Amino acid sequence: MVQIVLKAGRERPIQQRHPWVFSGAIDTVRGNPVDGAIVDVLGPDGAWLARGFWSSRSQIRLRVATWDAAQPLDDHWLREAIARAVRGRAGLFSDDETACRLVFSEADGLPGLIVDRYGQYLAIQLLTQGMAARADVVVGALVALLQPRGIYERSDPEICEKEGLPTHEGQRWGEAPPERLIVRPIMLPGMCGERPPLLADLRGGQKTGFYLDQAINRARVGAYCRGAEVLDGFAYTGGFSVYAARAGAAALTLIDSSGPALALARANLDLNSPATPAELIEGDVFRVLRQYRATGRRFDVIILDPPKFAHSQAQVERASRGYKDINLLALQLLRSGGLLATFSCSGLISADLFQKIVFGAALDARRDTQIVERFAQAPDHPVLLSFPESEYLKGLLCRVW
Ligand code: SAH
Repeated sequence: MVQIVLKAGRERPIQQRHPWVFSGAIDTVRGNPVDGAIVDVLGPDGAWLARGFWSSRSQIRLRVATWDAAQPLDDHWLREAIARAVRGRAGLFSDDETACRLVFSEADGLPGLIVDRYGQYLAIQLLTQGMAARADVVVGALVALLQPRGIYERSDPEICEKEGLPTHEGQRWGEAPPERLIVRPIMLPGMCGERPPLLADLRGGQKTGFYLDQAINRARVGAYCRGAEVLDGFAYTGGFSVYAARAGAAALTLIDSSGPALALARANLDLNSPATPAELIEGDVFRVLRQYRATGRRFDVIILDPPKFAHSQAQVERASRGYKDINLLALQLLRSGGLLATFSCSGLISADLFQKIVFGAALDARRDTQIVERFAQAPDHPVLLSFPESEYLKGLLCRVW
């Protein structure tokens, strides 16, 4: 058995079930682990602490998958862990159309594995050496458990690069998903309202095709849009706009830098609410909002759901300025009594920091701003208490005077 021994003082996070061992925390490597190999983690005193998967080229040299010395990390373990994650989503999906994240990496005890269900198709990501080496077991487990029509791999190329993995994408099993697949978002038991059909492109879309983490927030924000002129900034395929239109928005303006995303947004609006006037603008949100400010354009509801601005600690300050800029612009464009739904999916920007950033923007805009709702990632993206990094999406709904 290959082992690593941690440096003195570096054992505490592992004892507290945080799953990452950084290269700088390792004192000695006993043996010669290959990428993806199973490695035991020992404390500085030689005591057994945990077991996980080795990754020689990642800053996170080892990812822990069990804290139980008697638990082998074999195929049986992997199949059981996937089954447990799926059991945890029971009640969120029951039909052939629901889109739902079934496995959320470390938060489900499966570092590097993401499985998204798009109706009868699965999109998977294998983002660590440990998972990439076990791809066949993962696929076999998913087929046995869920009998999908097809499994398509969309491993994020940026993460693969950091992990020293070759980028891999493509059909893993069964049938290829159609270019435009109709899915329906999850709904919480007890939540009312119909679930809109939404088109997703699993093979060509961003991430695995759709931003599943906003499922509940789209319904929440949409509910405030009746009769409103709505600006959907960073609209992607129009998820928020579809809900706003169905709730009776008077007019929609969608902005995104991606042409293909907007083409799908148009199709989603046609599918759900063809009569709602909608202007789709391919462009930079920062620039378009500045133009609107200059020309005196105003809105009743503004949604800001930008991509991740902070990818590392070093980018947090710059990212904070970016968030402040767009929120300041949005606050200036709102009619009195209007609503700002603003989000950040940067894990490195805490909910607390995000609120401070929006506060700073409100001060500069000289607008009285009240928080009326707080948002988080949907429940199919659980937050593991011992792994705060799994909490990344936060949002505020603000009434602006
Ligand atoms: N709100 C969307 C998800 C947004 S993801 C939904 O509900 O599904 C972020 C989007 O921002 C992506 O579609 C990306 O193409 C777009 N984007 C990134 N930078 C941008 C910029 N500067 N201006 C406009 N769009 C941008």
